Amino acid sequence: MPYLVKDKIQFLAEASKILSSSLDYNITLAIIAKLIVNNLADFCMIDLLEDGSMQRVAVKASDPKKQKMANMFFDFPPDPRNKKAIYEAAKSKTPIIIKKITPLWLKTVSRIEKERNLVNSLKMKSFIFAPLLSRNQTIGVITIGSSSKIYDENDATFIEELAIRAGIAVDKAKLYKDAQDALQTRDEFLAIASHELRTPLTSLLLNLQLTLSRIHKLPSGQVKVETITSMIEDSEQQAYRLSRLITDLLNVSVVSTGKLILEKEDIRLLDLAKEIKKRFEIQLLRSKTNLVIKGANVKGNWDKVRIEQVLTNLITNAIKYGKNKPILIEVKKSDNKAVITIEDKGIGIGKEDQAHIFDRFKRGVSSREYKGLGVGLYIAKQIIEAHGGKIKVKSKIGKGTTFTVELPLD
Ligand code: ADP
Repeated sequence: MPYLVKDKIQFLAEASKILSSSLDYNITLAIIAKLIVNNLADFCMIDLLEDGSMQRVAVKASDPKKQKMANMFFDFPPDPRNKKAIYEAAKSKTPIIIKKITPLWLKTVSRIEKERNLVNSLKMKSFIFAPLLSRNQTIGVITIGSSSKIYDENDATFIEELAIRAGIAVDKAKLYKDAQDALQTRDEFLAIASHELRTPLTSLLLNLQLTLSRIHKLPSGQVKVETITSMIEDSEQQAYRLSRLITDLLNVSVVSTGKLILEKEDIRLLDLAKEIKKRFEIQLLRSKTNLVIKGANVKGNWDKVRIEQVLTNLITNAIKYGKNKPILIEVKKSDNKAVITIEDKGIGIGKEDQAHIFDRFKRGVSSREYKGLGVGLYIAKQIIEAHGGKIKVKSKIGKGTTFTVELPLD
């Protein structure tokens, strides 16, 4: 079996050099696994912590003929209930050595027979689970297995040293990838945002030019009031859209940088909803959408401008994604909170998308089909949470969507 390290210090120095040679996350993981099976073990597995749970990201066998079999470990992610195994090494931030793998131990760490058979088929004798640490946090665990050597405390210290170096390399590659992803999201957002801003602006300019040319062409006194009024209404709608987009853009930076300051005053929700509805009148008329507002005129102390913005965003969405079907807004008082529901019978949102729609720049629809910046719900959530409230969604594809906003009454 490969256990070829003669000079440990030199090996670790060499490993650090190799590990720092790539910023590609996947390459870094592959380098670590290869380093281990070429020098320290017959078998290596890497699990990384993602949102509190371990994800298996690499499995490597020193003998290429056994790689196919080893890959089957991808089917058995670590179980957090297991003692003396991967999760415990992660939690305790210290390596765990299983000097001799016994059937009893195997039974306690694996509830699945197939997995136990796999360990036996690979003739594993000894295991070490070493935490991958970076910035004093566990980011994963490296498992090494040997089919001949019985690992001891010295091996554990050595693999711990290697895991520290590997942890830093993985963390660095991860941070780099996150930064790259964020840059890409930002670039995509900027491209969509400029396109979104230009569309209503172009229509607004065209409308104004057309209105002016109509006025200039006709002898004074013969300008039809209805024609001009309708054209100005069109312009007003485009200006509203522009204004909403710009407000959203400004708010993304305000809420993302934690600079959201609430200016609270007493407001009545039903009155506010009705006031907002007036601004959507033309849009509702054109899309032949019926919007009904009902319920109790619950009074509370909130930031009027911000709550107005939340409702505006939710109504905009209900119209945009509502397939021209009726929309119902209901305001209720429940215990010590005000509850507002905005219900549409439109396209609905799939289960997977529901988990992300409140994230920044996340959209569940294509830009070609539906215009939007993907920030409305993100802003709404931040505003509602800043008030100590909650926003939730219930939806079924093709059936419709209901957003529920809860605001504390104190
Ligand atoms: P935008 O509408 O600009 O994409 P939002 O943050 O307001 O951004 O919404 C995020 C996503 O949530 C939308 O892209 C859409 O997929 C989904 N969504 C929001 N409201 C509704 C709704 N009423 N019906 C269906 N889908 C919706």
